[in-house]
Order: sequence, then C-alpha cells, then structure tokens
Amino acid sequence: MLRWLLFIVFLSGLTGPASMLRADPLVLTPFGDQIGLSPHVSYLAEGDEERSLQAIMTLPDRDWTANTEDDVNLGYRDHAYWFRLTLENPQLVALHKILEIAYPVLDSVEIYRIDDGAVGQSWTLGDKQPFNARPIRHCNFLVPLDLPPQSETRLYLRVETASSVQLPMTLWSRDAFFVAEQPHLLLEGLYYGVVLVMILYNLFVFVVVRERSFLYYVGYISAMPLFLASLHGVAFQYLWPESTWWNDHAILFFLNLTVFFGGIFAMRFLTVLPHTHPKLAWTTVTVVIASGVFALVSLAVPYRLMILPSIVLAASGCAGMVLLGSIRWYEKDPAARYFGIAWFFMLFGGVVLALNKFTLLPQNLFTENATQVGSGLGVILLSIALADRINKEKKRAFDAQERLYHEERKVRLAQEKSLAVQQEANALLEQRVQERTQDLEDLNRRLQELSETDNLTGLKNRGFFDRSFRSACVRAYRFGQPLALLVIDIDHFKRFNDRYGHLVGDDCLQMVAQCIRRFVTRPEDLAARYGGEEFVVLLPETPANGAEQVAERIREAIAGTDFRISNEVLNVTVSIGLCCVVPEHVEATKLIFHAADEALYDAKGRGRNRVTICDSRFSTPVHSL
Ligand code: GH3
Ligand code: MG
Ligand code: MG
Repeated sequence: MLRWLLFIVFLSGLTGPASMLRADPLVLTPFGDQIGLSPHVSYLAEGDEERSLQAIMTLPDRDWTANTEDDVNLGYRDHAYWFRLTLENPQLVALHKILEIAYPVLDSVEIYRIDDGAVGQSWTLGDKQPFNARPIRHCNFLVPLDLPPQSETRLYLRVETASSVQLPMTLWSRDAFFVAEQPHLLLEGLYYGVVLVMILYNLFVFVVVRERSFLYYVGYISAMPLFLASLHGVAFQYLWPESTWWNDHAILFFLNLTVFFGGIFAMRFLTVLPHTHPKLAWTTVTVVIASGVFALVSLAVPYRLMILPSIVLAASGCAGMVLLGSIRWYEKDPAARYFGIAWFFMLFGGVVLALNKFTLLPQNLFTENATQVGSGLGVILLSIALADRINKEKKRAFDAQERLYHEERKVRLAQEKSLAVQQEANALLEQRVQERTQDLEDLNRRLQELSETDNLTGLKNRGFFDRSFRSACVRAYRFGQPLALLVIDIDHFKRFNDRYGHLVGDDCLQMVAQCIRRFVTRPEDLAARYGGEEFVVLLPETPANGAEQVAERIREAIAGTDFRISNEVLNVTVSIGLCCVVPEHVEATKLIFHAADEALYDAKGRGRNRVTICDSRFSTPVHSL
C-alpha cells in the first residue's frame, strides 16, 4: 500500500536543473544490451498552439533543452512536450533494438523516426489508444527499432498527458529485452498470484465466519493490486484492453478505494473505535469518507483535477496508517505489531524502489520488484494476523462463555445449597411445630382427662359419667342391648366422718374407689364418683345377673377390706342399687338412674351392706318408658 509514496515519487517529480546544451548523438556498439536514454534526450514545450513535426524539426538547436538527469521527469504540465534524441549506428551490421518507455500512464505518445534526414516510420502510443493497437503488446510502450548499418536515426516524440510528464526510456537489444523480461514476469505473476489466492482465501473465510474484517480486508487487498496493475499498465493489458475511458479513471478510482478499504480495515483491525479513541477514529472516518467520495468523483472529473487531491489524501492516509499502527502498538495492542511489521514490508518495498529509481541502490531483480515483494509479504502477514486475531477473539469469547458457565454453575450450586438449608430449616420448623402441636394435644388430652377425672379418687367425675351414660343409653336402645347401672353409697359415712375427721374420710373414699376399679375391667365399663360418698358403675351390654355379680363382688371386696386408723381396724360397707334394662327410649337415663336410686334406697332400708336389684316394683315404670 505504501507504494502511494512511490506513486508520489513517480507522479509529482519536479524538473531537475536543465542544461541548454545540445545532447550528442548516442553512438551504439553491438554490446550495449540495455541503454538508459534519458541523458541523451533534449526536450521543448510545444506552447499553446499545436505544432507539426515539420515545424518542430526546423526549430534551431538552442530552442531545445538537453536533459542531463538520469530520468526525464518534467512534472505536471498543461501542454504537450516534444523530445528528441539521435542514435548513431557506426557498425557495419544492422542493429535490432527495442525502444521502451516504462511509464504506461502517458495519455498520448507520438514517435517519429527520421532516417538520414528523411521522415520514416511513426507510431502513436499512449493509454488513450486501445491496447491492441500497440506495435508490441506489452504493458509498457515498446517500439521495434531496426537501425541500418552506418546510419543516424533521429527520433522525435510528442508527449501529451494529464499525468506527470515522465519519459523513462530504455534502448534494449531485442534478445536482451526478452531475457530480462522473464524474471520480471515471473515475479509479477507471483505477486498477482499470491494476492489472488489471499483474496479468495479471505473471501472464503468471510463466507464461513461472517466476520466483516475479512470483507474489508478483501476490499483492501483487491483495490491495492488493481491500483498497481493500473499504474503499471498490467490491468489495461489483461483486464480492459479496449476501455480507454475506464483505463484513464481506474488509477485514481482504485487508489481512493485502497485508502477507503485500508482505513476501514485498519480501524476494525486495530479496534480504533469512536468510544475508545474518539479523535483518531473520527479523523480516520473523515479520511475514509473523503476517499469514498473521491473514488466516485474521480469517475466524473478529469484526471488532472483529481490527481493532486487524491495524492494528498493518499499521503495523509498513509501517514495516518503509520500513526494508527504506532499508537496502537504503543498501547500494547498485539494486533498492532503484525500491522506494523506488514506496513514495514510495504514501506520497505516502496522505499527500495524509490532509491532504485534515484540510482541510490543498484538495479537488480530484487530492487526492481521490491514493491511487489514487500506488498506480497505484507498482504500475507496481515492475512495471518487477521486470522490470528479472529482466533484469539473466538478463544476469548469461548473463555468468557466458559467463565460465565462456571459462574452460573456456582450460583446454581449456591442456590441449591441455600434451598437445602431453607428446606432443612422448614423441616426443623415443621418438626418443632409438630412437637409443639403434640405437646399441646397432650396437654389438651391431659386437661380433658383432668376435666373428666375426680381429683380425690382418680375415677371419672360426674360430668363425664353423665355424657357417657347418655350415649350408652342411646347405643343400648339402638342395638337392643341391656344396660346396667350400679349406684353405690357408703353406709353411715356421715358418722364415719364425724368420728374420724374428713381427711380419714377422704382416705376411705379412695379405698372404696380402688375396690370398685378392681371389678370394672371391660373397656366399655365405666366407674365414676357421682358426688360425696356415692359412686356409679355403668355396665353396657350386661344382663342383670352379670351386673348383680359385679355389684356383689364390689360390695364383698369393700366389706372385706381392712381399713386401718391408728391401732383400729374398721370394715366399711356399701349399699348398691342396681337397675338393668333394655331401654325403650333414648332419653331413659333419668328413669334408669331413678330406678337404681330407688333400689339403693331399698337396700339402705333393708339394713345396708347389700345389693338390691330394682324388682317388679321398680321395673314397671322403667319398662313402660
Ligand atoms: P347412710 O348409710 O344412710 O347413707 O348414711 P350417711 O351418713 O352415709 O348418709 P348421708 O348421705 O346423709 O351422709 C353423707 C355424708 O358423706 C355427709 C358428709 O359428711 C360425707 N361426705 C360427703 N362428701 C364427702 C367427702 O368428699 N369427703 C368426706 N370425708 N366426707 C364426705
Ligand atoms: Mg349418701
Ligand atoms: Mg351414705
């Protein structure tokens, strides 16, 4: 790309100090294979009016300026220039030569041959002519020159061009030209081959990875060789040999396009973005936009108007690239190192060729083709760097993704852990709640029991008995089962209390309760303290004879139990009233109790310490329920 520098050297050269001396004829020997003709050329400006060959030929020698430089470079000129040189062949044999003008962007070159004073052959060359009209189809302008033995041939050349007026002329022996051409062709082919492969390769990579850097890079490495090929006449020769209009515009179009794509690519490649490097990025964007506009404008505006702005823009672009690369290198962007080295190769190629042109370096295959070599190496290096950068970015993205995955995993694990802790806490809480509920239930049960139990004797109390009695009565009624009720009363207990005191009386009550409990064994049976010294025993599904047996056993057990008070042993007795019926009504409890109470009353009346079953006297009212 830095062949812009070279291009500037080529196109904007200034005229060197000219001598007014007339150049001597160039005397040819059979051994001169390659002779630079510049030091043997004289020139004059045509002026505002176009002049004929005859008019020029008659001009005196003093009007001609001898070129003493190794190059003919008159810079940008508004009018045509005439050149002349004289070739003398003192040999006895004819010499077969080729005249080469190695500056293929000249618009029009008319060559007239004057042999021994007579006007001979003439040729019209230049890139305004179709390529195939050239006498020798070559990217440079070639003219075959056969010089007869012992003759003097003068050549007049009229050059009119919008480009800078340069006339690098060489006189080759025909064989030497074709021999010298071979390595040059090989290197040129190699360069375009490498570039073409790189274009296709990067295009393919773009299609596969869809990373736009590759597309800009393809644009850049397409525009650059097209610019060079246009500049060197190769594009005219192979790509558009008939399109003289396009050939005239192609150089500036591709030069600006190279700056355009080069700028975009550099920004992306070196990650110079508006939010990271505002000033640099906007300057580059300005150059990129300007080059895009220039590329389009160069198609419509004449070459001579566009050439200088384009060169200035290209030179600024070139300096900008060096600046961008250096800044990013200084900022330790790894990509900038490759960028810098690639630019070094390209710049190196341009500088070597420039030095070669100024004959500060020897002319050889390498120095002559240094631009192609440098540019080719630069293109390959940038391509590798681009692939490397994309790879690294992919890896960075992959690493970031992996890190993210690990972070996510950590978060997930932490979440799971906290969930487990929460679940554990919940389970613990639930367990505590269950325990508390259990405690409360136990307490409730205990309270319930306490509320159902008689404090002194530990038997069920009257409230519980009343409820149980009612439901037992309902069940007995529903299933037609007999229900027995014993009402037990301690005999002469008032007397007992009066004699021994209430505390002893309480002990006695406990003893009686214990005796009753011993014989109330079935789960459905119930013993309760009814109140005072009266107890009740409820015996569901028990016939009268069974109930009587239980009552007798209770009575006997109490009567048989020795109750000790200090040294005294007493035997307490009880009277028991028994009622056993199959209820004929759900609300029979009152009558049953009344009947049993009546029986008890009867037992008391008949002398106490006995069991009385409610007989027909009592059963009558019961059964009539
Ligand atoms: P009877 O043989 O006719 O049943 O004579 P009684 O003295 O047992 O008759 P009564 O039913 O009139 O007497 C009941 C006595 O029981 C009255 C009271 O002194 C006594 N008593 C009632 N409840 C308690 C108690 O909780 N503790 C004690 N020590 N005595 C009680
Ligand atoms: Mg009583
Ligand atoms: Mg009593």
